[in-house]
Amino acid sequence: MKSNSMKQEKMPSDTSENNLPLPSSGHNCCCDDDECCSAALPAEPLTGNLSGAVYSMLEGIGEDPQREGLLKTPERVARSLRFLTRGYSENPEELLKNAVFTESYDEMVVVRDIDLFSMCEHHLLPFFGKAHVAYIPDGKIVGLSKLARVVEVFARRLQVQERLTQQIRDAIQTVLNPKGVGVVIEAKHLCMVMRGVEKLNSITTTSAMSGQFITSQSTRSEFLRLIRP
Ligand SMILES: [Zn+2]
Repeated sequence: MKSNSMKQEKMPSDTSENNLPLPSSGHNCCCDDDECCSAALPAEPLTGNLSGAVYSMLEGIGEDPQREGLLKTPERVARSLRFLTRGYSENPEELLKNAVFTESYDEMVVVRDIDLFSMCEHHLLPFFGKAHVAYIPDGKIVGLSKLARVVEVFARRLQVQERLTQQIRDAIQTVLNPKGVGVVIEAKHLCMVMRGVEKLNSITTTSAMSGQFITSQSTRSEFLRLIRP
C-alpha cells in the first residue's frame, strides 16, 4: 500500500519564484558567535574526536589549521555538525504520541510549506526546501506543530531525500493509523548546485503516500492541488 515517486524538474531561472527558504543567518547556524550554536545543543561536552577530525580535514585540503582564522574552526565545525545532526537523539514517534487527541474530524489535514534543512549523506552538503504533509484522520488527530517537528527530527540527520520523505510518512502512519498519509518534499541540493554539476535551478521533488492517498485518485488530486504554489 505504499508508493514512492521521484522526478527532477528544471525550474525557470528566476529562483525568487521558487519560494524556497534561503539558509538564514538566524540561530540555526555555525556563525562566529561561539555562544550561538552551543546554546542549542545538549549540555554534554564535545568529544575531541569530531573536532580532531575537522583539524585533519583542514590539513587534508592543504590548509594550515594553525593560522589565525582557522584556530577555532575545528571546534566550531564540530558544534555545527552536532547541531545539524541532532535529530539522532530524538524519537519522532514518541514526539507524535505525546500530542494525539481523539477527534471525529475526518477530512484531510494539510500542513504545507514546512521549511526543511537537511544534509545529504553522500556529500555532507545541505539540501533545503519545503515539505508538505497531509493525513486523513481515523478517530485521532495530532497537534499540528508536531507534524513540522517530525519533519525537522528526520531532516536533522544525514539523509537522502527519498528516505526522508518515506520516514515522515511512516512515522505518522504508525502512530496515528489514519486513513492515509501524503508527504511531498521539494528541495535544492547544494551537492548538485556547487559540485560542478551546475544545475543551479533544479529542484528535486519526492513523494510518499499511503492508504487513501494511493487508492483514491480524488484524494491524491485534492492533496496535490492544495499544495500547489
Ligand atoms: Zn549529495
